[in-house]
Amino acid sequence: MKRFPVAAGNWKMNTTVEEAAALAKELRDRLDRLDGVEKIVCPPFVSLVPVKGIITGSSIKLGAQNMYFQEKGAFTGEVSPTMLAGLCQYVILGHSERRQYFHEEDRLVNRKLKAALKAGLAPILCVGEKLEDREGGRTEEVITRQISEGLADIPNPGDLVIAYEPIWAIGTGRAATASQANETIGLIRRVVGGQCGGAVAEGVRLLYGGSVTAANILEFVSQSEIDGSLVGGASLKAGDFTSIAEQTARAK
Ligand code: PEP
Repeated sequence: MKRFPVAAGNWKMNTTVEEAAALAKELRDRLDRLDGVEKIVCPPFVSLVPVKGIITGSSIKLGAQNMYFQEKGAFTGEVSPTMLAGLCQYVILGHSERRQYFHEEDRLVNRKLKAALKAGLAPILCVGEKLEDREGGRTEEVITRQISEGLADIPNPGDLVIAYEPIWAIGTGRAATASQANETIGLIRRVVGGQCGGAVAEGVRLLYGGSVTAANILEFVSQSEIDGSLVGGASLKAGDFTSIAEQTARAK
């Protein structure tokens, strides 16, 4: 089955509203006419509206970096699925920085996933092991737990995308090797298959993330199991993200 490749940029807590608008304009000009890859940008919450204004009518899709699972109410500082549903197509959930700094656990990620799907948003679920888990031979155990608890009671995960992001590779300049990434992503596909069935596993798009650059993207997207990338640092440079998207389209 042919899965449509993805280049997704997670801008994290970077860019002022003005900077985000400038980056979005540059990306629209460079990427609008690039076919063969789905381009997704995930700016900070405060820039979702202006960035949406800039990319509407182009082929670039919009994603948020997080959300809460409740629809509305007394949850100061939180953003709901209903608020995002009118704005963007995607939402990143369970990013390792949310798990690490904001103590988000698999059960919470699962509630967020269900709420996103209910609101018609496509979740980008992030999973990945710590360095000590990889070195201790626990990668399979950690990833299997994150996927099975994250997807618990979700037999049909819609347009779910999963990003495998080993924590030791995020923002460190030390990317996984392409074969390490392909092997773990193959495991993710098997776990999704065991849980949601073969058809879902065949169709779900699985990305690699962790120190992806314009110089190493080709190694990753040349692998059979890897359908694209979730890019942090390099997605803040329009030229680099454009090159990542172009190489992805060409390789797939
Ligand atoms: C990320 O945070 O999703 C990420 C992959 O970051 P970086 O590309 O900077 O390692």
